Amino acid sequence: MTEPVHPIKVGLEIHRQLDTEHKLFCSCPTALTEEAPEYKFLRRLRPTQSELGQVDQAALFEFHRGKSIMYEADHETSCLVEMDEEPPGKLNPEATEVCLTAAILMHAKPVDEIHVMRKIVIDGSNPTGFQRTSIVALNGSLTVDGNAIPIDQISLEEDAARKTSQTRDITSYRIDRLGIPLIEVTTAPVLHSPSDVEKVALAIGNILRATRKVKRGLGSVRQDLNISIPDGALIEIKGVQELELIGKAVQLEVDRQSILLQIRDELKKRNVQPSTISRNYVTLTDIFQNTKARVIREAISKNGVVLGIRLQHFGGLLGRELGIAGLRFGTELSGRASFWAGVGGIFHSDELPAYGIVESEIDQVRQMLSAGNDDAFVLVADEFERAKDALNAVADRALEALTGVPEETRNAMPDGSSRFIRPRPGAARMYPETDVPSTPITELVIADLNSRLPETSEELTKRLSSQYSLNQKLSRQLVDSDYLALFERTSKKSKNTQPSFIATMLTETCKSLRREGFAVNEVSDEKMESIFELVDLGTIAKEAMPDLLKWQAKNLDSGPNDGIRALGFQILSELELDRIIDQHLEKNRKLVTEKGVGAFPSLMGSIMSEVRGKTDAKIVTERLKQKLAKA
Ligand SMILES: [Zn+2]
Repeated sequence: MTEPVHPIKVGLEIHRQLDTEHKLFCSCPTALTEEAPEYKFLRRLRPTQSELGQVDQAALFEFHRGKSIMYEADHETSCLVEMDEEPPGKLNPEATEVCLTAAILMHAKPVDEIHVMRKIVIDGSNPTGFQRTSIVALNGSLTVDGNAIPIDQISLEEDAARKTSQTRDITSYRIDRLGIPLIEVTTAPVLHSPSDVEKVALAIGNILRATRKVKRGLGSVRQDLNISIPDGALIEIKGVQELELIGKAVQLEVDRQSILLQIRDELKKRNVQPSTISRNYVTLTDIFQNTKARVIREAISKNGVVLGIRLQHFGGLLGRELGIAGLRFGTELSGRASFWAGVGGIFHSDELPAYGIVESEIDQVRQMLSAGNDDAFVLVADEFERAKDALNAVADRALEALTGVPEETRNAMPDGSSRFIRPRPGAARMYPETDVPSTPITELVIADLNSRLPETSEELTKRLSSQYSLNQKLSRQLVDSDYLALFERTSKKSKNTQPSFIATMLTETCKSLRREGFAVNEVSDEKMESIFELVDLGTIAKEAMPDLLKWQAKNLDSGPNDGIRALGFQILSELELDRIIDQHLEKNRKLVTEKGVGAFPSLMGSIMSEVRGKTDAKIVTERLKQKLAKA
């Protein structure tokens, strides 16, 4: 990994759910549910004064905004512990063991005693108002491409509740996910390129998978990135879900920061000073009395107003793309407005006319704001106070543009870009969780774990190759995938299916289907197993499996048998197949008489197009060759 002249610095934080039997502090299962909630309870979070003293300004603001939190629960996946009605039990020994095993594999030094701490989170994702977390090991190291990558810390945490909906006043969370054990691996900020970051993430993923106790599928892995570039700022990007997106996310953040620095320089050239940015908010409601813009009409009908602000000499800059379509400097301004004021109806001059706002309205706005052609403006339609807060946030962000890149926490988007979530909080303050006793890590415990360490990825690759007669590449791909356990289970059960077929399906086929946009990784292990079983029993042909997988990915709530019916797959009996082959021979009698066995390729093609998915190509080949020989 060569160091570029102006190195970007990236640190990686990987969170992965552990596939333990129970949650971290209670005996609930570590499974999510699709069932409707059995009960709901509403909470207003009330952190005590001492806790509030430690909360950063942004979180405090969110709290004062007076949001209520609705929790959704059911007795299968949660108990009184998740509801904060009962103290937590002791730290789950199975989760501790998995975490320590991963730590040993990363050459980290386990702590003498695991102390559970409380980290304040008041976004509502935990009814207690904090997340329980504990450091398990420190100062590890991982060799990637011959370089030692320092691993700062390995922790064990409880997962948060998952957000199910959000309105302006109420956020809803399902607490089934709350308390699922998470391992957190943090590297030092020593990575310098998108591809380095991706390689290290893959290497950490391999070690975690080697424990055979991590969950797979969407939401089971969350990767956070800390990225800074020279002259830019430290940006925290949360929740990159796909390994393949990490490199892109790093590159896009570098691009975003570079363009923000260009905008800063451009503003300097235009001689924009902090005093140039006015906070003179003008009421423009009258202009929009008969507007066709739906958002503005709705706001006005609810006694709202339209407020506007002029951004002098910002003309053309708000529409500038920050490295990817859909993310503009204007998006950054509205992100701030929606965070600090919760408004949605926000428009900037570089995107207008649009959304029903027409040229004549824009002219009048420009006139009222005394905005010339090299000026920009921002409009907000909402209640007066909210609209004012929103424009204040816009002015704050515009001011920050003069110094370059503000430090922020951002949310990873599926296209690799990111959006503002909140200002970067100070280092999270923690205090001890007094309800959970500490767990000593004795040398005996470590020696025991050392004596039964899981196979390394090299050992695994070798074993898979010899045990299942797979080639090196396929074994390696399996080891790098989330399907190793599924592969071994299925291969052992199958009577008629070659392990190499199963391995290819689980690696190459699944990968290419995902590239085509089918979320096959969301199909559960149980359903994957049933599909392989259907192939093994001959209920569907091998060739039909990719189509069935596609169907299953689009119909996650249904089972593979529904898919077989929906797709019209049905295996042909030998008699039916013979009848079809005979028909084709009859139709092509002349060709068969002329070419004999040489007619095989063209006949095979036309027969397969009729029976694909309903029988194996191998069987067709056999039968057709026999019949041609006779004919
Ligand atoms: Zn529970």
